[in-house]
Amino acid sequence: MQKILQHILPFELPKGFPDEATYRLYKKWDEPARQVQISAITFLTALLYIIFSLLDKSWASDQVQVLMLRLNLFVTAPILLTISFLAYKKRFYTIVVPALALFPVFSMLSHAYIAGQLGNYFPFVTEGYLAVFWIFVVSGMTFRHALASASMASSILLVSGFYVMSDLDIYTMHVFWIFCSFSFGCLGALMFDRSRKAVFMSQQELHHLAVTDELTGAFNRNHLKSVLAQEMARDIRYDKTFGLLIIDIDHFKNINDTFGHAVGDDVLRKTAQILSASIRSNDTLVRWGGEEFVVIAIEVNETTLKHLCEKLRHKIEDDGFGAVDKVTVSIGATLFRKDDTRDALLSRADKALYQAKNKGRNITVSV
Ligand code: GH3
Ligand code: MG
Ligand code: MG
Repeated sequence: MQKILQHILPFELPKGFPDEATYRLYKKWDEPARQVQISAITFLTALLYIIFSLLDKSWASDQVQVLMLRLNLFVTAPILLTISFLAYKKRFYTIVVPALALFPVFSMLSHAYIAGQLGNYFPFVTEGYLAVFWIFVVSGMTFRHALASASMASSILLVSGFYVMSDLDIYTMHVFWIFCSFSFGCLGALMFDRSRKAVFMSQQELHHLAVTDELTGAFNRNHLKSVLAQEMARDIRYDKTFGLLIIDIDHFKNINDTFGHAVGDDVLRKTAQILSASIRSNDTLVRWGGEEFVVIAIEVNETTLKHLCEKLRHKIEDDGFGAVDKVTVSIGATLFRKDDTRDALLSRADKALYQAKNKGRNITVSV
């Protein structure tokens, strides 16, 4: 089903995104804005239905007037107000969108029924065309839901118009106006959908640039601040512990002096690649500055932290670095303690690194 939809609606499903995770992020970003829109629009539409039911309708029989009043004031407006309220509450989003997509179907059916009772379609045709446009452009539905909803609403308009409109030429015009509102609406919704995605993607790109170290592709120092704040809060709350490692390339200045700055840069890139491939996907690799990296390793204890340090040290030592025969690192590591400040944590890891350097390098020290 997903595959078929992806084929028909390439702009709605993950196909338009580089990967599934980005698509999920987009959904998370997109939903709150839609919720606000849905809540406001359904509220406004409910008010318009209330005003409509108060307008003079002496052109209709008493019986139809009562029917319109009951439908609009006691059914349609309350449904819209309920959707508006539910859309306001985040947890109801999954039921709000299908309910919103079904609402125009109900509305067009009641509109067709009243037109049938009246024997005259004329007072309601504009509402029908507006409804199609409303679904696509105004309602805040996703494109997929809007397309399904507008198709159903348009079909009801086409069929009911066929039965209620006696003149074939007028019916032809009716079909034409439905086609116009559908195509304008569909195009508008499509463009809107695409521009939302473009805004999201450029925001993602800017965010990526803001948190990434250009040379190595690891996160930068700025990002470390927010990761640390997040991890510290999480660990205090859930009684867990993360580890912080400072990894420093040994005698890196000699590498630069002997092989040149470009080779030095290659060594930094390769080191980041090895480290990144050797940590878990939930851990974070940061270029702390120069030839120093920081790893935030989540959910570790004293033993697993030591293992991780040794594993990283060996990975670097055992790998080939092209022109540079051998590259080694020294690592200072520590576990987060509940009463730690960020500076205290970093300074403890830094002291451990200092010890590793003093002990002769290519050594790990965890405290
Ligand atoms: P130690 O074993 O004590 O850590 O010695 P070291 O030579 O690795 O440390 P030191 O702090 O003396 O030298 C770090 C060098 O890293 C000096 C600096 O020129 C170089 N460096 C900093 N950033 C970059 C960079 O982006 N590219 C390159 N190629 N070199 C860099
Ligand atoms: Mg250093
Ligand atoms: Mg160094």
